[in-house]
Amino acid sequence: MEAPEPTGKCILIIEDNPLNMKLFSAMIAAQGYRVLHAADGPAGLAAARQEQPDLIIMDVSLPGLSGIEVTRLLKENEETRDIPIIIATAFGMRDEIRTCGCDAFMAKPIAVAELLRLIESLLARSPARI
Ligand code: MN
Repeated sequence: MEAPEPTGKCILIIEDNPLNMKLFSAMIAAQGYRVLHAADGPAGLAAARQEQPDLIIMDVSLPGLSGIEVTRLLKENEETRDIPIIIATAFGMRDEIRTCGCDAFMAKPIAVAELLRLIESLLARSPARI
């Protein structure tokens, strides 16, 4: 397989399931995005603050802090609130997801083409980051 053209964009995946992490990482890296990983809520929060990724893919059920809580904390802080967040969830909590400030959510199992389109559209509308 040819190496993808680098996009210059960085995507943080916060996911505690190793198989999902591997799957998301591979599909996103194949599009030329740089991929960062965090496997629990506090590590995800720290990585988002330190690395200022261009977009975050967030699991809901995570050790330490849930994806809902991490999203709320990032959206409350002016240094991280403009980072688009896609929540990927296998089960309910639709009310919490709707009100936590995330930019989009997708049901697992993830439809790859749909996720990639969603990432592109969120990256296209996000302001230039300094
Ligand atoms: Mn999980």
